[in-house]
Amino acid sequence: MATIGSVTRQIAALEISGPASRAPGTTSSIIRPTHTKQASQPNVAKLLTKFAAPNPHQSQINLANLPPPPSSRSEATQPAIDIGRYDGGLEIENEKRGDVVSGDAAADLALDSSLSRTYPTQEWSLHMFDMGRPLGKGKFGRVYMVRTKTAPNYILALKTLYKSELVKNKVEKQTRREIEIQQNLRHPNIVRLYGFFHDAKRIFLMIEYAGKGELYKHLSKLGSFSEKRSARYIDQMADALVYLHGKHVIHRDIKPENLLLGLNGELKIADFGWSVHAPGLRRMTLCGTLDYLPPEMVEGKEHNEKVDYWALGVLTYEFMIGAPPFEDRGSVNNTYRRIAKVDLKFPATLSADAKDLISKLLQYEPRDRLPLTEVLRHPWIVKYRPKGTVRDGSV
Ligand code: AMP
Repeated sequence: MATIGSVTRQIAALEISGPASRAPGTTSSIIRPTHTKQASQPNVAKLLTKFAAPNPHQSQINLANLPPPPSSRSEATQPAIDIGRYDGGLEIENEKRGDVVSGDAAADLALDSSLSRTYPTQEWSLHMFDMGRPLGKGKFGRVYMVRTKTAPNYILALKTLYKSELVKNKVEKQTRREIEIQQNLRHPNIVRLYGFFHDAKRIFLMIEYAGKGELYKHLSKLGSFSEKRSARYIDQMADALVYLHGKHVIHRDIKPENLLLGLNGELKIADFGWSVHAPGLRRMTLCGTLDYLPPEMVEGKEHNEKVDYWALGVLTYEFMIGAPPFEDRGSVNNTYRRIAKVDLKFPATLSADAKDLISKLLQYEPRDRLPLTEVLRHPWIVKYRPKGTVRDGSV
């Protein structure tokens, strides 16, 4: 029987369109990290969260025109993959949730990837999928594991967004923008958007299925990650950020909650709800999760793609220590103060190389932060990189 992994690899090949930790600020007390899921700020639109990219160098998916993979050319060899039991949630929810949207908003939200001028994929609709188990609930609707009914039976995550709720939250334009950004991204560490379609009340996003789920859950369970595991994730993150910044996309909301893991445990950046397509790279809006905000955003100054360098430093620290470096659970103001002062303290358990990388990313001045290409060459990253891995950004 084919595994989900093998079928997902077929999809990719086809290119269808730890240790005990201490509290920050202390050097002696050993504290078990207590992870609480950090919501993005309330006005954050968590829209286009989970998209995928099997290979950054391959061309655009076109599901309509692709031949089936060799292993699925006949019905007899169809992979039998268990996608779990559908709970009927979409129908139940559709009865209760959301109204039909009209006017300009309806035009904004008439999102159909088959109409895309740049990357048309085939026309999709809900009845073309076998519904599987629920994967989770987002702010604007549920996410399901699904399989296309026709060969080669792609496995995907299907995410629902209720149009009326997007309108109520005044994020319909942002939704469009996020979809536009997302559909152009192809990188193995960025969740890929394969296509999208809509009906009267909902938008459906066809997203790469991230088989190992939320990275945040793994971190919460373990408390922290080993240096090796952390370095490998940071290596993948840095590579994906080089790619994003090369496309003038700043993520701006990097944190464990916005990362998924693929079937092979590879990191996948998801949730582009805060990302900005910024040719000028100068924005003044305050956004992002407090613990990951850089000094320039805390101080309300202009910021650029180097906010993501800072967040990468915070993430590196959190992976190994189990809590972000400037966290102060008692006082938001104190967190702001600690960020502005770059009040960074390391527990003795961290290696010198790890400390070196974190300190070079957590620099007050954005221009002083270690460039991502240097991150990819840093000894701590190189030491743990699996042999034979090629990083475009480091050559
Ligand atoms: P979201 O609205 O994107 O936050 O999604 C809600 C939940 O659905 C997430 O917390 C994940 O557990 C799950 N989920 C979303 N997208 C995917 C995906 N592409 N693969 C697997 N699980 C997902």
